[in-house]
Amino acid sequence: MMYDIIIVGAGPAGLTAAIYARRASKSVLVLEARAWGGQIINTPDIENYPVVAHISGADFADQLYRQATALGAELKLEKVIGVEELGKVKKVRTNQGEYEAGAVILATGSENRKLGVDREQALTGRGVSYCATCDGNFFRGRDVAVVGGGNTALEDALYLAELASKVYLIHRRDSFRGEEATVELLRKKENVEFVYNATVTALLGEKRLSGVEVTDKLSGEKRTIELKGLFVAVGRIPENESFRALVEIDQAGYAVAGENCHTKVPGVFVAGDNRTKEVRQLVTAAADGAVAATEAVKYLNG
Ligand code: NAP
Repeated sequence: MMYDIIIVGAGPAGLTAAIYARRASKSVLVLEARAWGGQIINTPDIENYPVVAHISGADFADQLYRQATALGAELKLEKVIGVEELGKVKKVRTNQGEYEAGAVILATGSENRKLGVDREQALTGRGVSYCATCDGNFFRGRDVAVVGGGNTALEDALYLAELASKVYLIHRRDSFRGEEATVELLRKKENVEFVYNATVTALLGEKRLSGVEVTDKLSGEKRTIELKGLFVAVGRIPENESFRALVEIDQAGYAVAGENCHTKVPGVFVAGDNRTKEVRQLVTAAADGAVAATEAVKYLNG
């Protein structure tokens, strides 16, 4: 079936693009490999989206999905494995079939970066987690650690401090990349211990995680911390592997595009966290969706 616009990814960028494209009366198919909503569904409380002082990521995603589908966007849960440009027509291959469109918007976002420590994969779901809001509840009254120094790590630590008996915040430097306001809130928590200049060098425990070995970067000294849960929040990797043959991808894996969301391929646009950009926030992902859809509509209208 031929659509005007196929959007790959149903996160805030993709679904916002769907809203704009539908309001311009274009037929829209959104293809999503996992759950719609994107990474924002893991955020317990969004406090920095204009006008909305507080909303959970899940509610935000839910309302966005309803808005896009009520306007007539079609959504299919299929994984895109490749996009081919055949002049005016773009062919999108998924794990279940093939679709065609006049324009394509790549809005696939990013996936969790792994720590890269031995047995990380084996202990995932057995004490190692990448999502505090999904798994935090399993660690009620237990000792846990968060690794990372960005906003995700800080917010995860804040969230877990309400559930866990103790939260170690392990960061490889002594200053944070995330917002100072959240750091200040964490400092006030009696059950949060900051472990600076430290990297996790081993995961302990046989069938389940029972602790971590951390190594001080400056002295080389090793320390064992006993805990039941380790929440890895060390950033994300753009999900552009399926588009390597289609658009330009930079060294860090981002699809190269400017603020107008144009790639070098006419009719192929990129929106949100998988694009080269300075600020990766919910509001900028949504903004990208609006820009990419508007540009796609212009392209289709000639
Ligand atoms: P991030 O900002 O890229 O931070 C990743 C953190 O992990 C950095 O502190 C980094 O350390 C550390 N790190 C990277 N690789 C590591 C490794 N192998 N071992 C140990 N530590 C490692 O990622 P993020 O926190 O996921 O945030 C991603 C984007 O989403 C950011 O732009 C963030 O502001 C945004 N975000 C915003 C909100 C919000 O506004 N409410 C919430 C969540 C996320 P270094 O600092 O030393 O590089």
